[in-house]
Amino acid sequence: MFGLPPYALRRKINGGLNRLSRTRQLSRALGLPYELQLVPTNACNLRCRACPKTHYPTDNRHLSPDVYERVKNELFPTIRILNLQGLGEPLLSPLFRRMVADARAFGLKIKFVTNAMMLDASLMEEIVRAGADVTVSLDGACAETHEDSRTGSSFSVIMDNMKIMSELGEKYKDGGFHLSLNTVVTKRNVGELREILEIGARCKILCLTLISPGVGEREDDYAQDVISRFPELLRRELPLLKESARAKGIQLFSPEFAKTENVRQKNDAGRKEKPFRLFPGTCLDPWRSAYIDVDGWVRPCCRAVWIGMGNILEKPFRKIWNDVHYIRLREHVNSDNPPEFCRGCTLWWGITRGNELYTKELEARGVILPQPPQIGVTDPAKGKAAI
Ligand code: SF4
Repeated sequence: MFGLPPYALRRKINGGLNRLSRTRQLSRALGLPYELQLVPTNACNLRCRACPKTHYPTDNRHLSPDVYERVKNELFPTIRILNLQGLGEPLLSPLFRRMVADARAFGLKIKFVTNAMMLDASLMEEIVRAGADVTVSLDGACAETHEDSRTGSSFSVIMDNMKIMSELGEKYKDGGFHLSLNTVVTKRNVGELREILEIGARCKILCLTLISPGVGEREDDYAQDVISRFPELLRRELPLLKESARAKGIQLFSPEFAKTENVRQKNDAGRKEKPFRLFPGTCLDPWRSAYIDVDGWVRPCCRAVWIGMGNILEKPFRKIWNDVHYIRLREHVNSDNPPEFCRGCTLWWGITRGNELYTKELEARGVILPQPPQIGVTDPAKGKAAI
């Protein structure tokens, strides 16, 4: 309509309804999600040390074409962001190129994280022209460190592909393409973070996100080296890293626990006074975004992939979005009695602010949490161990 991008008006109205629902935390959401995480595949070409796929049994299914068609028809006209991400490497999905082309036709922002090993020249051109936000996983500033963390990966292939994407980004400057980096930080690579930032600067990245991997009860040699066990090492690096990121115009995100006490106090002082709650974070995922698995199961979020809220092959998404499971989730997620899967959340925007050991800390303080509410159905195809 008169030069507006496709579905602009529907999206604008939906965006307003979604904002209203999440700011008021309504149990029955108005409108539909703003963002959709659609799993392109659960298969992967690597076996990274931090990844659950390396340590637990998972499936390797690709997104079903039937599910994709439903999702496209029901949700593409209203969402703004299409996050093509699951447990696997998105580029392995047979539907990947089609999804990029469709997202472009619908005027959607696509984003995904990739190990950057499966890119070819034409795909990189399509991705950049679609204005995607691409995040590359890079765990070292040299082949030895990176390839030790990401088994099966090639540092030189990644460097070549990042350079090509960065050059394409310059060529299609106004298309909205952004390149970023994710680094899973351990004791082994914390000393290379400044060099990783240098690599990112050469490729004109938008942001560098430092990730502390959730390892649950694992005690293998890699799990013993995760940075949450050595927060001081990261704290020591952060001031210079921040300064360097600022000078280069790169956004830097780091885990909450790595911030110094001063910074945390400053952040807390800046937050509005709120009634006391047992969990420190406020999660808005149940209003803002939806997660749909390869087989059509709608999940509460990427941290609870064994919980089913309904299947879009059986029910329209609109119904699932305001069905009993979602209503219960919205009522409980930010209460003192959140669902079991939220209590060990490792996401910085979740209720634990990324601290998967938070409930243990509560227990150590003598807090006894109530029995969690039952939300969703447990998918028999997936065990809790699968995340
Ligand atoms: S708190 Fe974490 S696990 Fe719970 S809904 Fe939010 S993101 Fe998902």
